[in-house]
Order: sequence, then structure tokens, then C-alpha cells
Amino acid sequence: MMGMDISKEKCRYCGEQAKYFQFATFICEKDECAERAMEDRGGPAGHIKEKMEREAQKKQGCR
Ligand SMILES: [Zn+2]
Repeated sequence: MMGMDISKEKCRYCGEQAKYFQFATFICEKDECAERAMEDRGGPAGHIKEKMEREAQKKQGCR
């Protein structure tokens, strides 16, 4: 990782200057690109969010 020059990398999603290496890809500083990278990776946050939304709907359905 030390030899990696992020200033030469571009965001995988919008093509702008990469700012971070996260979720196994280069992304810029925009939240939407980070979220897309996370979704593509199938990250834990995505699963948790989906589960929470499903549970929330379940609770609403009981009323
Ligand atoms: Zn981007």
C-alpha cells in the first residue's frame, strides 16, 4: 500500500480525482461514490441497512 500514489488515481464511479482507497476501489470524496463502492462490495453497512428497513416495515405492518 505504501507505493500507491492516490493522486494519480481516479474515482471509479465519476472519474474525478480519487481521494480514498476504500472497499477495494478508488473513490473521490463524494458520499454517493462511497456508497456505491460500498454497495458494490456488498459491505456490512448495506446489509444492515437493508435488514433494518425490512424490520421497520414489519413493525409498521403490525399496527
Ligand atoms: Zn466519485
